[in-house]
Amino acid sequence: MKKKLIAGNWKMNGSLAANDLLVRALVAGLPDPSGCDVAVAVPAPYLAQVQALVAGSPLALAAQDVSQHESGAYTGEISAAMLREFGVRYALVGHSERRQYHGETDVHVAVKTQRALAAGLTPIVCVGETLAEREAGHTEAAVRRQLASVIHLNGHCISEVVVAYEPVWAIGTGKTASPEQAQQVHAVLRAQLAAASPRPESIRLLYGGSMNAANAAQLLAQPDIDGGLVGGASLKAEDFQQIIAAAQ
Ligand code: PEP
Repeated sequence: MKKKLIAGNWKMNGSLAANDLLVRALVAGLPDPSGCDVAVAVPAPYLAQVQALVAGSPLALAAQDVSQHESGAYTGEISAAMLREFGVRYALVGHSERRQYHGETDVHVAVKTQRALAAGLTPIVCVGETLAEREAGHTEAAVRRQLASVIHLNGHCISEVVVAYEPVWAIGTGKTASPEQAQQVHAVLRAQLAAASPRPESIRLLYGGSMNAANAAQLLAQPDIDGGLVGGASLKAEDFQQIIAAAQ
């Protein structure tokens, strides 16, 4: 049976002292054995610190982005191979904050997804509609377009990818998609995946957007929601642990 995945996205938050407390609490509190996979996507300067803190535990390390380039004169970029050297297992790709503030397009997302896979990382590809797209009735078209950019991968199968549906209007706003709204979009994505994968049901589809301790259980109970990508609530050990508990 497919395990759910709960991934925390710290965004640009943390400090050596705060990370130490948070990760020690998470490692100590992880159910053993755990019925779900758990990861934390940390800012790049803290990869080595968190790698050491999670060593020997089931808590996996994730990156928040990965370069579209393999290596070379790309100041400020971090390659997939470098992330691998720090024990990184997953990399977020195409988070809406990268699309919105850093001009990432579907083409960048596709190349980054390939780079991650080629280096042995599992990309968590984020898709989601803006409020304007939802209000105009374009939700389905927007997420289908974003997913289409990664659905055919050179030498890799879409089943190696994790997909996160994150409605942009729900990220960091405290407005969560209702379980029914989220399930509706997840079903659309699952159907699209079915055209490209012989095992569409094996692909993990996460929901993200103000998931918290209070709403996680209902969201995670939906048939096509296979986990969560959690921003704000992943910074508080107790809240994140309650979400992990809801995924067991
Ligand atoms: C995110 O950063 O991917 C996210 C879903 O954030 P939040 O949970 O804070 O809405």
